[in-house]
Amino acid sequence: MLNPADIIAGTRIVARPGVYVLGFYDTRITFYSQQVRALELAHALWHEHLLPANARVAVVGGGAAGITLAAGLALQGGTDVHLFEKAQRLLPLQGDSQRRRLDPHIYDWPNPDADHELAELPVLDWRSGPARDVRYAVLREFGEVRLATADRLTIRERHQVTAVTPQAGRFLVNFEREAVGGGRESASQEFDIVVLAIGFGIENRFALPGTETASYWHDAGIPGVEIDGNPRPTFLVSGNGDGGLIDLIAAASATFRHDNIVRGIAQRPGVQALRDALLAIDTEALAAEAMGQGFDFLAAYDVTIGAQVEALGLVDQMQEQLRAGVQLFFQTREPELLSIKTARLNRLAVYLLIKACGRQGAESFTHVVCDDVHQIASEPGDAQGSRRFACGATTVVADWVITRRGPGRETIRQPFANLLAGFEVEHAAWVQAFPADSIAPKLNPATYEHFKRLAAQAELPPPRYHINALLAALPRSVKLWLTGGDARWSGDVALADVATLWSDDTSLLELTVINAPDQLGTSLAHAIARLAIHALRIDLLVDVARWRAFLVALSSESPNTGGLRPPPLRALGGHPSILNPVTIPPDELAATINRALDGWLLEAVDRHLTRYMRHGEDPGHAVSFVAATDLRQQMEPIWQNWVQRFRAEPALLARFLGLAVCAKDDAAAAGEASVLAGRLLVTPLIRACAVALAVATAWQATAPRGAHPGNLGRDANGTHRTGHTCAAALIDSEEMALVALRHAWTTEFVLLPMQSVPATLIVAANSSLNKSSGGILLLGQPGVDGKLMLTVDARFRAAAQTSAAELVALLRGIEEDHFSRLKAAIEDGGGPQ
Ligand SMILES: Cc1cc2nc3c(=O)[nH]c(=O)nc-3n(C[C@H](O)[C@H](O)[C@H](O)COP(=O)(O)OP(=O)(O)OC[C@H]3O[C@@H](n4cnc5c(N)ncnc54)[C@H](O)[C@@H]3O)c2cc1C
Repeated sequence: MLNPADIIAGTRIVARPGVYVLGFYDTRITFYSQQVRALELAHALWHEHLLPANARVAVVGGGAAGITLAAGLALQGGTDVHLFEKAQRLLPLQGDSQRRRLDPHIYDWPNPDADHELAELPVLDWRSGPARDVRYAVLREFGEVRLATADRLTIRERHQVTAVTPQAGRFLVNFEREAVGGGRESASQEFDIVVLAIGFGIENRFALPGTETASYWHDAGIPGVEIDGNPRPTFLVSGNGDGGLIDLIAAASATFRHDNIVRGIAQRPGVQALRDALLAIDTEALAAEAMGQGFDFLAAYDVTIGAQVEALGLVDQMQEQLRAGVQLFFQTREPELLSIKTARLNRLAVYLLIKACGRQGAESFTHVVCDDVHQIASEPGDAQGSRRFACGATTVVADWVITRRGPGRETIRQPFANLLAGFEVEHAAWVQAFPADSIAPKLNPATYEHFKRLAAQAELPPPRYHINALLAALPRSVKLWLTGGDARWSGDVALADVATLWSDDTSLLELTVINAPDQLGTSLAHAIARLAIHALRIDLLVDVARWRAFLVALSSESPNTGGLRPPPLRALGGHPSILNPVTIPPDELAATINRALDGWLLEAVDRHLTRYMRHGEDPGHAVSFVAATDLRQQMEPIWQNWVQRFRAEPALLARFLGLAVCAKDDAAAAGEASVLAGRLLVTPLIRACAVALAVATAWQATAPRGAHPGNLGRDANGTHRTGHTCAAALIDSEEMALVALRHAWTTEFVLLPMQSVPATLIVAANSSLNKSSGGILLLGQPGVDGKLMLTVDARFRAAAQTSAAELVALLRGIEEDHFSRLKAAIEDGGGPQ
């Protein structure tokens, strides 16, 4: 880490004491690193006593570096700071882009914490986001500093500094500004210290003759929907600085979300294994550069990490994100495609991109090396709007041209040429002495503490993201009570948003329920219990004694499920919110809550099953059996049909969900079944649906059933058979696996996907107790009264994993065998066994 003297050595101009240069001779500049340089310089000037009392300081440039330096100096006090910005607004570059993102640390990758989203600066702090939002956040904080330091900080927007002339130990700063009566006028002022924070300037939009490329920081420079539908969108990208690499990757990606790609790489599990190899390659490249030689990154990556990036799935990941059919032409002057001057993560992303395009597919990547690119006349066969370019010997017919040849450094530095003469050489020597810190400076703890203390003294508010996080963490409140025979819901969470209380990212809700369960009535009391038991963060403020027994019976003491706990209970009190009031009959309120929660469950199950059926993915082993691809393909349309019916018929969905987690199928148990069907039992719900769908591929016309008995029905060969898919863990406090065959199921067939007790264990348990096979659950076994029991046992699993046809054959055989034996038994007069 650099100390204050090092900082001064790297920023001062030796021949011009009192003039400092902020970052624009460094490489890999970022918004964050410029802020760090600025705070370090402000601190170092103070620490090294280089700020005479009441010094007048001119800061030239209102970008990230300039405003941060001006804020830092003003907070330190003792100086009179003037900030000159030639544009109409501060931070002009970042103001027009909602689609380019700023990340504070991502360019440090693969160093640890590079994907951390908070800048965590002591002043002008921000978090990752679209460039325009970051600008807005930083300017809001800058506004607070201005308020706190009004007499020490003067902002001069639309003031272009045209010259800085040393004069008897001081500096005459000449600038142009708008004259009061219109037009421009020149003026000058004297300063003791001048800090140049002029950045790199802006790019030449017409760098490639015949084409125009909007500024990197302007959303207009980003290809839009006009590319959609083009089967072979062709891009010509010129320039291999970071801007060119970023836009090459962005052009190649289906969504033009460059940040998704770099984050996808930086957060890929196991990617840290590449770290040492990447750093070693950079060291080699730096050595080559020091000797004035090029370095072939692609060859080095191939040898060192080529196999690893494949094994880590990084190339697959890149390939998945490619724009379909994209044709990429990348033009550079140097024979080497990548340069050490660019960010490591961008280089790696381009390497992955080239590998992904090199695979068998419609996408392609071509590197063209030539001094310049010329537009040539288009031919009739060229696609609409596409143009021809001669890139050396190669002709490219491009739909979109992106030129990133770098900003106009010379133009921006020109007014200060008298000061800057010799600085480049001085600074290069300094960079040699601090190769790492000059590229990615770190904020010294002493500097951090210094500004933290000054910010506290000035009573600056914490950054907005901090305040937002605090606000989001504050408990919200809802009040429910009976009034004039109706139930009234009011609070921070509108009734229409009640299902959001089951989200993982929700803040604490204090739900005040004035009345006891028996006063609310069964349906509303059950709906409240369901909401609170399954929520991650709901405290119930109630008459604790009367609610506790009610909730315990439905959760920890429930005879029909395991693993649920009553929600935290607190005594009534406080002032719950009266916002968003709704007053409706209690049963209607209960129905509204239940419908919203059923909808939440359906979406959760649908998300999981869709992923399972389309990609075979089963996070958390919720489905728990492996289905062959053709079986999954046959399940999907059946599920889509069910989902449509569930969405159209809330009562059908409610019945299906309740019975999927509760074995009792009678009116008395319906209330409890609905309480059990909740967020915490979403895994059994997924399981119950998945097995029912697999069975429905074999037993066609099996579908959800909306009336007693059961939750499934099947019309086949003129008969209607009722069924029950049930993933309940317990029946009357006994393990389902042990009592399922004895239970008085109400339907003709029963699907039991329970996994809690492996079949082998049940066999062992039964034999040790010297029981008959009555407790062993196997596929196709008859239960009480000849019910057909279908379980996910070894035979089911093997068939499902093999193919749809195998499962069909197995299940049809079982069905025919079972019902013909049943029929024969009835005809023999023995009745069902
Ligand atoms: C193509 C490209 C992509 C980039 N991508 C990223 C990225 O993804 N993330 C990132 O963090 N950074 C990125 N950067 C770097 C980005 O430019 C810096 O992060 C940031 O803008 C640097 O701040 P600065 O204050 O040094 O310079 P600037 O933002 O350029 O600010 C300098 C200011 O000085 C003003 N000025 C210049 N001359 C005068 C004068 N004579 N009189 C008065 N005012 C003057 C200018 O108008 C300007 O407002 C990128 C840069 C480019 C070119």
